[in-house]
Amino acid sequence: MTMTKEEKKIYNKWYRQTHKEEIKIYQAWYDQTPKAKMNKTIGQWKFKGLISDDYELIYNRYLISETCEECNKPYTTKNKKCMDHNHETGTFRNILCNACNTNRRMKINTSGIPNISWDKRRNTWRYTKMINGKLYHKSSRDLEFLKQYKIDFEKEHYY
Ligand SMILES: [Zn+2]
Repeated sequence: MTMTKEEKKIYNKWYRQTHKEEIKIYQAWYDQTPKAKMNKTIGQWKFKGLISDDYELIYNRYLISETCEECNKPYTTKNKKCMDHNHETGTFRNILCNACNTNRRMKINTSGIPNISWDKRRNTWRYTKMINGKLYHKSSRDLEFLKQYKIDFEKEHYY
């Protein structure tokens, strides 16, 4: 006997309500599997703007990395492993320790603010943000305006 769409909906709702504990245990177990961990991390990277043909390759490089690709120091709980990518183009660069990642970002962004940099060619500040493969940008000579724009824009897109 096949269920109609409506019956299936009711059945699923009933199942979820009567099997809460089992579902919770299963979810906790699933979250610990390597595949779930990988999908979660890759999901976060995509959200941050990473664009790649092969996310798993980057993830594997991330997994096996034991020392920072810039300073060669081992990662610690205080100085964690980071995936470094170009914030304007979305391309992957390195697996770095948090300190090197922050340093690199500061050098690139003369404004000192992630995603806002001085555009020499246009002679203006430029805010660029990659979200799920789409590039958003806004230019202004007024850095304070752009800082506020960034806050408002990211609030609107993240929540
Ligand atoms: Zn480092």
